[in-house]
Amino acid sequence: MDQIKRDKIAKGAIIQRDRLSYAIVPHLPAGLATPQQLEQIAAVARQFGAQLKLSSAQRIAIIGLREEDLDTAWAALGGMRPARPFGPCVRSIKICPGTDFCKRGQQDSVALGLKLDEQFQAKELPWKLKMAVSGCMNDCGEVCIKDIGLLGTTQGWHLQVGGNGGSAPRLSHRLLENLTSAEALRATDRLITWFIAQQRKCRFGKLVEEVGLEKLRQIAANSAGNP
Ligand code: SF4
Repeated sequence: MDQIKRDKIAKGAIIQRDRLSYAIVPHLPAGLATPQQLEQIAAVARQFGAQLKLSSAQRIAIIGLREEDLDTAWAALGGMRPARPFGPCVRSIKICPGTDFCKRGQQDSVALGLKLDEQFQAKELPWKLKMAVSGCMNDCGEVCIKDIGLLGTTQGWHLQVGGNGGSAPRLSHRLLENLTSAEALRATDRLITWFIAQQRKCRFGKLVEEVGLEKLRQIAANSAGNP
């Protein structure tokens, strides 16, 4: 990778179809934004004649910036950081409103999702990986198509693995049931550690198919069988 490309990546810049302009995407954990952040994003778009696009990862892309404006644009965003670095990593953690904002919520998806975001967002991996947290089985966060996800029930969290969208979509599988939030975080950490150790350039679901759910269940619950 040449130095110019590294510099653009460091600025969180994504080259656009015209090969001339860039998009930047500030990280908004859980898709939550303050009025001030929205005003800053809007101000940058207005200043540089850019467009705004809501993404499926609950972010706002600022599209159509010139290379020479990237530093000024980030400075105007007042401490917001790029959503993700270049290369394989934890790309996004999609989080439904849960008990904070939704009458159907059975678990606090925002609180758990923010902890996952703090611990795993942008973590470097052998291949890209997406997470989600939904506060009930309606699954508005789309855990069903995420590599690792958590579904809220009245009894706790169900841990799901192996889902993805794309050209070869997979639905996720139930790995563990009725976990506390602390147990869910520990099990997720064990799965991520295991994924890194495999050093395989493939989606998590491919490894699920290869090793089987029972083996992964033991990994997630540790050798003592404790979540
Ligand atoms: S998954 Fe459940 S808690 Fe979350 S937004 Fe949908 S209905 Fe509400």
